[in-house]
Amino acid sequence: MKDTYGRTIDYMRISITDRCNLRCRYCMPDGVELVPMSDILTFEEIVRIAAAAAKAGIRKFKVTGGEPLVRLGCPELVGELKQITGVEQVTLTTNGVLLSKYLEPLAAVGLDGVNISLDTLNRQTYERITGRDELNQVLKSIDLTVEKGIPVKLNCVLQRGLNAHEWEALIRFTRERPIDVRFIELMPIGYGREFEAVYNEELLEKLQALCPDLEPDERVHGNGPAIYYRLPGAKGSIGFISAMHGKFCAHCNRLRLTSRGMLKPCLCYEDSVDVGGIIRQNGPGRDEINRQIQEAIRQAVALKPECHSFEALDGVTERKRMIEIGG
Ligand code: SAM
Ligand code: SF4
Repeated sequence: MKDTYGRTIDYMRISITDRCNLRCRYCMPDGVELVPMSDILTFEEIVRIAAAAAKAGIRKFKVTGGEPLVRLGCPELVGELKQITGVEQVTLTTNGVLLSKYLEPLAAVGLDGVNISLDTLNRQTYERITGRDELNQVLKSIDLTVEKGIPVKLNCVLQRGLNAHEWEALIRFTRERPIDVRFIELMPIGYGREFEAVYNEELLEKLQALCPDLEPDERVHGNGPAIYYRLPGAKGSIGFISAMHGKFCAHCNRLRLTSRGMLKPCLCYEDSVDVGGIIRQNGPGRDEINRQIQEAIRQAVALKPECHSFEALDGVTERKRMIEIGG
């Protein structure tokens, strides 16, 4: 599918739950209100929407949340998405806590890659950020996933005054193992508004000062807007997702499906198309509903704006929290 600005839209992120087993302070602090279970799309509904999306031209899906692995049956869902005609790739974004437990079934259904969120290698800092003492479990999951041969990317959000300095320790992952480490600028979405981001421009300057022989890495690494570099001889790469200042929108290729079935053209704005409402209609028959879902997907693509406005807080109209949207 082409949007109004000539971009090819072939990637959909699907948030399968807003529940999570961590309490990251910028995403889901204690006590947040949850979406009623009855509003969350069933797996059958998700697969039906995904099939319509594939017919319309979506080729890659990312399963996200909340924490996707807290929803029972996540590996089976990945398997069903992989079976849809036209789908080339299904990947997962997880905090990694339950990943080692579900690695076998995920590998068995052919999961194509995993993004694991890891903001620090310090156990106390991990607990301060996520509210839970689970760092060792996440590190174990990273090791086992690499051993299994599933491509791993680490996602790291740096916050000023808390883990801003951790980039130096985190980039060491790229030296010995084929792991990409990506720094995602904290965005003013949901509770992210309450904390101060570390900007990638500043981080890249520090990295170049420390490693003057840093090399740009032009290879395609996935579906995202990251710009990559590589330490000489390193097995993995270092990526920068500059959500705040890097206007990567010219290369945007995605739609987002929230846990209650709202299809979002852009992370920054509240505009969305209610596919959940369409699929739950009583009147029309199955074929008519499928036709309406495809139409809604095309409508969401047509609504994609030229670019986000994260750099100006007033321009950010999205009020949903990241746990519902899926990052
Ligand atoms: N629970 C899974 C995880 O943590 O990877 C998947 C969902 S989580 C919402 C997806 C990603 O969004 C995580 O890497 C998280 O760090 C990031 N995230 C959450 N809130 C954010 C914000 N305000 N700005 C930037 N990234 C954010
Ligand atoms: Fe949970 Fe991921 Fe949000 Fe952390 S970032 S609270 S792990 S959904």
